[in-house]
Amino acid sequence: MQIDREKINEMAARENRRFIDERPRSMSLLRKAKAHLPGGVPMAWMVSLYAHAPFFADSAQGAYFTDIDGHRYLDMNLADTSMGCGYAPPAVAEAVALQFNRGSQFLLPTQDTVLVAQALAERFDLPAWQFTLSASSANTEAIRISRAFTARDRVLVFDGKYHGLLDETCHLPNPAAGNGDVTPELKGLAKNSGKATDIAPYNDLAAAERVLRQRRTACVLVEAAATNVGGVLMPQPGFLDGLRELTRNCGSSLVIDETHTHMCAYGGLKREWGLDCDILVLGKSIAAGIPAGVYGLSESLAGFIEASLDRGKRGYLPELALGGTLFGNALQIAAMRATLDHVLTGPAQLKAARLGERIAAGIENGAGNCGLPWSAHRLYCRSGYHFWPELPVNNAEAEAAADPALRNLFRVYMAN
Ligand code: PMP
Repeated sequence: MQIDREKINEMAARENRRFIDERPRSMSLLRKAKAHLPGGVPMAWMVSLYAHAPFFADSAQGAYFTDIDGHRYLDMNLADTSMGCGYAPPAVAEAVALQFNRGSQFLLPTQDTVLVAQALAERFDLPAWQFTLSASSANTEAIRISRAFTARDRVLVFDGKYHGLLDETCHLPNPAAGNGDVTPELKGLAKNSGKATDIAPYNDLAAAERVLRQRRTACVLVEAAATNVGGVLMPQPGFLDGLRELTRNCGSSLVIDETHTHMCAYGGLKREWGLDCDILVLGKSIAAGIPAGVYGLSESLAGFIEASLDRGKRGYLPELALGGTLFGNALQIAAMRATLDHVLTGPAQLKAARLGERIAAGIENGAGNCGLPWSAHRLYCRSGYHFWPELPVNNAEAEAAADPALRNLFRVYMAN
């Protein structure tokens, strides 16, 4: 079926107008906000997330949030999955209130720290754990540990990736250069900040192998399923296992970034699919929305860090460039303990996965009933739509199928 572009523009204009008209309090606050906040928001990036005007949240519970004009939304994005445990799960709310009143930060471990590390080790099958404030910082540290361990600089990522705005991961392939060069994706990066970055197409094991065989790669950083393209790229059979084998043979570490996908199943896709890696990165909803990034380490990397601590005792700073004042604070640890014990349980994750299956089936049925050849990816709780009959295998295919105008209309229409 041909989609009428005129109609999309017409509907978008109508829905965007309605969005503004029905949110007078937000729009008035936005005008005031712009005096001291560029774009009227605390982080300018927020403005670019949606094509409709920014509006102000008031409160939330479970799967719903309310804006300051009193509209209530069923939240299908959950703050880009950082609220994947739902808003204010009671067990976490209680644990966080209790911990804040007992001390939220000591720059010392608490008893819960040990219990959380034990729980993560059991669940994700990696022996040692470290904590940060975000998945971005966890990825930064994963790269640094890999570099120190391998005495190499280069990082291999995959086209369409997002791992946080790290210098190494903020680049795009630059085919015009013809020599594997990359180019900064955004402004603010030093011209040569990508000089240690290689980018291969997702699911292209041969391309990854060409890079890894040069034996200059400190680590491969990859999502278990690529969730940051328009929709999702599922790994082809053998891709992730192939990366494991190649990294092992070529002396690189394999970092699997499950910031988003750990929600898919108890123990993440790592446990669900029996994946093996040297470092596993988790974030976002792992502490039910209290800022937290976490990474698990293989025995040999954990041993390497232990040894570096002994060597580092000579001076004031540790030997490795890791850590931050608020990383591993008592509040995030308490939140994580309650999240792991009471929210991200096996049965709850299974239930969410079944709901995801229902969404995927509903999307395909709904689209089919309208004569639209759209497909749905099935990624447990994180299922979703594609405006294309076949699911993409790499970023080029995902980009070819993308329809930003239609997606933006979808979003504002659903919000209204
Ligand atoms: N890794 C992945 C796979 C992500 O999708 C994101 C954020 N979308 C990050 C890391 C960075 O997470 P944060 O912004 O919470 O640091």
